[in-house]
Amino acid sequence: MEDISDLRCVECLSTHLHRSCVAGAPDTKRLRCASCGAEFPVVDGIVRMVPRDSALRAEETAAPAAELDDSLQAEYWEDDGHGFRSPQDPIVRCFAEQRWRYLASRFDVASVRTALDVGCGDGFSTLYAPKHVAVTACDGSLTMLRRHQGDRRLQVDAFRLPFQDRSFDLVFAWELLHHVSEPHRVLAEMGRVSRRWVIACEPNPVNPAQHLFARLDPAHRWVLRFSKRYMLSQAAAASLEVTHFSRGGCLFPNKTPRAIFPLLRRVPYRIPLVGITNCMIARLPQAAESSTAAPHSLPTRRVA
Ligand SMILES: [Zn+2]
Repeated sequence: MEDISDLRCVECLSTHLHRSCVAGAPDTKRLRCASCGAEFPVVDGIVRMVPRDSALRAEETAAPAAELDDSLQAEYWEDDGHGFRSPQDPIVRCFAEQRWRYLASRFDVASVRTALDVGCGDGFSTLYAPKHVAVTACDGSLTMLRRHQGDRRLQVDAFRLPFQDRSFDLVFAWELLHHVSEPHRVLAEMGRVSRRWVIACEPNPVNPAQHLFARLDPAHRWVLRFSKRYMLSQAAAASLEVTHFSRGGCLFPNKTPRAIFPLLRRVPYRIPLVGITNCMIARLPQAAESSTAAPHSLPTRRVA
């Protein structure tokens, strides 16, 4: 974790963060806010910047909730037993490369130098991003981040990202919003830290397999909300201007049987109405874009 110039304190929003060591344990690294004194540990290279009152820390403070909420989603993602394929798996790789190729053909990806991957999971969204883009990866789950091979990783609450305004050219989320209670608030945060582009890819509940999966698995129940109309309304509530919306893809990275992969990989990406993914691309409104730009610039970073 070398560059901290684009970070801000998630407790008091101050930008006065400093590296410090724990007294008597010089190898224990952390960030400290000079304004409010909040401390953020750095564990295995992962900066942990989750606010004290976040739902992600509910197990430390509150009684378990009765119904599906953000703290139960957090528990789901800390659980190690979902049997996900690795980011290097040929099916996962094909899924990610197909999606990036499609997205890159729908917006001005050449102008993007820095990006933030929100809800990066174990990393295939970061790993197969266009090579000229330096990606910062963040997620709520420490378990997922530990598997992630990117060189800049942070544990965050997507409702309160620890970055200064307009820090990245592109901010994207793959299959994140259907895991949060109020997607428009996360989209608004993504818009705040973006200079230009915001992209969200979510399961399409019109697809029969996605629909069934959402019905069967309580942690994916919120997929049922993600109609085109709902996604556009969430973007509007976050003051984002949607420039592209389409359905595509037929490969489930973790569930496609290997026997039919050679066949499915040849199917063209765009599949109207029933493609497994809703792809939404938004840009910040012109007024915000032409207002005072963030003065800092980030050094180029690449994912290994
Ligand atoms: Zn602070």
